[in-house]
Amino acid sequence: MTKKILILPGDGIGQEVTSSMQKVLEYLIDEQDLNLEITERKVGGSSYEEFGKPLTEETLDIAKSSDAILFGAVGGPQWDDLGWDVRPEQALLGLRKALGLFANLRPAFLFNELASASPLKNHIIENLDILIVRELTGGVYFGEPRGIVENKNPKYGFNTMIYNEDEIRRIATVAFEAAMNRNKKLCSVEKANVLEVSKFWRGIVSEMGAEYPEVELTHQLADNTAMQLVLNPNQYDVIVSGNLFGDILSDIAATLSGSIGMLPSASLNSSAQGMYEPCHGSAPDIAGQGIANPLAMISSLAMAFEHSLKRVDLARRIESAIKTFISSGLRTKDIATGNDFIRTDEVAPTLINILKDEHE
Ligand code: NAD
Repeated sequence: MTKKILILPGDGIGQEVTSSMQKVLEYLIDEQDLNLEITERKVGGSSYEEFGKPLTEETLDIAKSSDAILFGAVGGPQWDDLGWDVRPEQALLGLRKALGLFANLRPAFLFNELASASPLKNHIIENLDILIVRELTGGVYFGEPRGIVENKNPKYGFNTMIYNEDEIRRIATVAFEAAMNRNKKLCSVEKANVLEVSKFWRGIVSEMGAEYPEVELTHQLADNTAMQLVLNPNQYDVIVSGNLFGDILSDIAATLSGSIGMLPSASLNSSAQGMYEPCHGSAPDIAGQGIANPLAMISSLAMAFEHSLKRVDLARRIESAIKTFISSGLRTKDIATGNDFIRTDEVAPTLINILKDEHE
């Protein structure tokens, strides 16, 4: 059956990194004779410029019928003063909501050769390889009621942090399954010492632990996890958390590896439909200079092959080619120590040569 891929390059370096990713994808389609149909559409600021909105109904419809969406990045200073509902970032929220992308997978890993780019000491960060599973469509970011009350003295603002049993079970299932495929350790993170919703979360996750006897399950308070991620990140394999704590912890974890241009992410729904994007933004400061690092975007393609396109073998091949790329000393500007670096458009052809070599 034909699988459908929607490519949404977006703005700034989003366009440069997706173009590199697409070259790798097209090489694999050719080599493996894959039955994949690719569509490309504008999104974010570039969609706003042409259609007056960051995400058109047509693009949303194509997204809904796609197996995987490969998303570059959106945003830029020229759109910062737009009204809230037409800002480029609304495209991301619109896609997450319409597709029910509740599970955000954020790997944080380090190639030891790049340890000097990390803000942490080498012996703390070496061999970093963790996966943060963040709940993406619930919790305090979406809970009702919410609001700002102006007609009281004092005025106040409020939100509701809420998770029902089904929401906790479905994100915990993703995390337990991920742990089963990795080192079988899962740490569930909340604030059960002060929040009822967290106490409830902990109870459900503990109960589910019995269904996964091989997984070593621990529970941690979010403030402690923030500290432990910096002190001893290698104690973790998989971390699962709600929307708010997961947001903060996944950014801390991404920073540890020191190179934002390297880390991919996936956002999945219950039918394994997914949106795959690098952790970085549109980097207006370097857009158009040909120096963006496309490896996070290419790693995101590997995640798409693993989770939505069901070709784990191709995911592993892309990851292996990236490893070889780094271990052979090749560097893009953001991870180079001196002036010896390769440009964005040289990365895909180099990776394709590695893919060919490693396939023979
Ligand atoms: P950013 O991630 O775009 O850039 C932060 C820094 O990292 C910059 O110095 C940039 O040059 C560098 N950088 C980022 N990706 C890189 C890459 N692949 N290769 C080399 N260097 C890279 O974050 P920002 O500057 O805070 O945001 C810029 C714009 O991106 C804003 O409009 C923001 O709203 C948007 N943004 C979009 C997304 C998304 O689309 N998912 C995520 C974050 C930020």
